[in-house]
Parts: sequence; C-alpha cells; structure tokens
Amino acid sequence: MLDFPSALLTKKQFLLSELQTHGLRLLDAAAGAASRRGGAGPTDHKAVTVLGTTIMVPVHTRGAANSPYVAAPPDTRGMSVLRSGEEVMCEISFPPQPRFYGLSTADGIEYWKIAQLHSLDTLATTVLQTCIRYGNSATKCQFCAIGESLKGGRTIAKKTPEQLAEVAAAAQKFDGVRNVVMTTGTPATDDRGAAVLTDCAAAIKAATGLPIQAQCEPPSDFSWFSQMRRAGVDTLGMHLEAWDEDVRTRIMPGKAEVPRAFYLEAFAAAVEVFGRGQVSTYLLAGLGDTIEDLHDAARTLIPLGVYPFIVPFVPVGGTPLADHRPPSADFMRAVLAPVGEWLSAAGMTSDTVKAGCAKCAACSTLSTFEKPKQSACAA
Ligand code: SF4
Repeated sequence: MLDFPSALLTKKQFLLSELQTHGLRLLDAAAGAASRRGGAGPTDHKAVTVLGTTIMVPVHTRGAANSPYVAAPPDTRGMSVLRSGEEVMCEISFPPQPRFYGLSTADGIEYWKIAQLHSLDTLATTVLQTCIRYGNSATKCQFCAIGESLKGGRTIAKKTPEQLAEVAAAAQKFDGVRNVVMTTGTPATDDRGAAVLTDCAAAIKAATGLPIQAQCEPPSDFSWFSQMRRAGVDTLGMHLEAWDEDVRTRIMPGKAEVPRAFYLEAFAAAVEVFGRGQVSTYLLAGLGDTIEDLHDAARTLIPLGVYPFIVPFVPVGGTPLADHRPPSADFMRAVLAPVGEWLSAAGMTSDTVKAGCAKCAACSTLSTFEKPKQSACAA
C-alpha cells in the first residue's frame, strides 16, 4: 500500500515526481526496447503511463540503474511499479510502438529517423541535427547530446519540409498524433533556425492542420515571429535552460553569450504575436539554480505571458554532465507546487497551451500542480 509523506500532495503528484527524478529500473528487458538513447529532447527516457498520466521517466541513466523503483514484468494484472523491489505502488503501462515507425520514405529513410512519438500524442523532430555550438567544448551546452543520435545513425542531419509533412500525416493517420514539436540545433545564421522552422511548419500545416510548436534561440530580427505564425506555428519555445547568469555561463558557455535580458525582450515580442501562454521556455532544474532562482524566473515570466516549463535535469550518457546528480523529488516538488498555483491564477495552465512541450507536459510534473479553476493571484 502506498504511503506518501504530505497531506498536501496527492498520490499522483508524489509518485510521478519520484519516478521522474529517481528513474525506473526495468526488469523486463523487452520493456525498454522502444525507448530512446542519446539525442535531443528527452533521451534515455521511456514514456510511462502512471495513474492515467503519461510522463517521460529515465530508464537508461546511471541513476535509474540504482532507482528504488522497479517495473515488474507483466503478470495477469499487467505491469506494476514496485518500491525497493517489494511494495506494489500501482499499475503502469507503456504506450505501444507507433505504427508509423514501420514506414519509410520513397528513398528508404525510416520515418522514425525523421520524427519520433513523444509521450502519447506528440510528434517531435529536430529539424537540424547539428548546432554551431556543439563541436567545441568552449561553447557547447554541457547537457546536450544532439550529435550522438546522428553519430549513431538513428536520425538524419536535416529533415526537409516534404519529409516532415509526409511523416506527420502518417503519424496523424495511424497513431492519432495531435500536435507537433519542432526543435532545431542552432545554425550560423541570424535567424537562429527560424527560417527552416518556418518552411517546415508551412508544409506540416498544409498536410495535417495539426497545432505546431517551434523551438529556437531568439532570432536577431523579431519579425521572424510573425513569419512563423503566418506559416502555421501556433506556439513558440525559446529555452533559457537556466535562470541565474552564472549558472548559464557555466553550463552553456556559448548560448549564455545571448544574455537573459535579450530573451526577455524576445519573449515580450513573441507574446504579442502568439498570445499569452503560447510562448514558453525550458528551465532545467538541478543545474545550479536554487528554488528561489526558479521561483524568481516564474514570477518574472508568467506576468510576461511566458509559460516556464521547469523540468528535472536528467543526465545523458556521452555528455560532460553524464555524472551530474539529478535534483531530488523534494526539490522538484518545492519548486513546482507554487509555480503550478501561479500558472493557474494567471489562466496559463498546460491545458490552455495549443502545442508543444508545455502542452505535452510529459517531461515535468508541473501540470499536476496546476489547478485550472483556481482564481487567487500569487505571481
Ligand atoms: S515535453 Fe517536449 S520534450 Fe518532453 S516528451 Fe513532451 S514533447 Fe517531448
């Protein structure tokens, strides 16, 4: 029988945050077969449905190998998660392998190398699998593995608009995909990837009509926001990754050359185009920002109309931070509980976001702390 430490936490909030920070050991090797290793986005993770919510849970990390939480092989009741190998916490399930993964383009590229299913119904792709900052230790983001899946032959360097439109249409038809996330490595151009994202969004929107999120660094010319919007981008992500400038410089020496103040200018311009709550940023908790830093971020961003998607950092093999400890579940709950309330009070909850990571919500338990009907203002 599950016990959880605080009457202020629901069973779901407790268990999801435990799994997302500790990870999950898979006793049944076949259960891990469909999970991703290396690359951009949630890597070394697996989508797991727990108490009706699907989240990304680390399964291939060193931390997960020592997690007190274990996925027991299926029995007649299905799969369970056990704590310390004994106590049954609840039943869990893994989303099935998408049907579109079995298809290829006319020139023989498997669809799964062009885009991947994230969580239950989000199609995700990295349009440019290369980045100006990646090859140089003086500039690369310490957590990033964007080049690893390319080296491993698990993706292609550049996805064309036509390829993405073809895969998105198949994923919509065969697997019920309901929104699309496009991220990109940063090219050596002032648009920071906005141009390729614009072209790809137009093709995907024409083929599927699906809601689309684009993710890139702030372009030098903010008129790209209108161009992306006209092409069919519904929401925009510009990812700070960390809030404190010293943490940014230490973890992302290249990307931190773009100061936080410029991101704030870009956020304000983007909210004018996409609307409140339809612009977001990723903040990786556990890289050095304190609870107060992350609350300061949320208090700054939410009034601007920007959704602070705060996720627990997960170390990825093959990166300089492979041995960095992820944040504790207590740290994440202390960060996320107030932010969930502030988002609720501002009317900017995950369910109001049209597309993207804040919509998918699988890399953080933040949405479980949101209360869409609450009206008090705390931000
Ligand atoms: S939150 Fe974003 S990165 Fe995480 S699984 Fe969903 S779409 Fe992928």
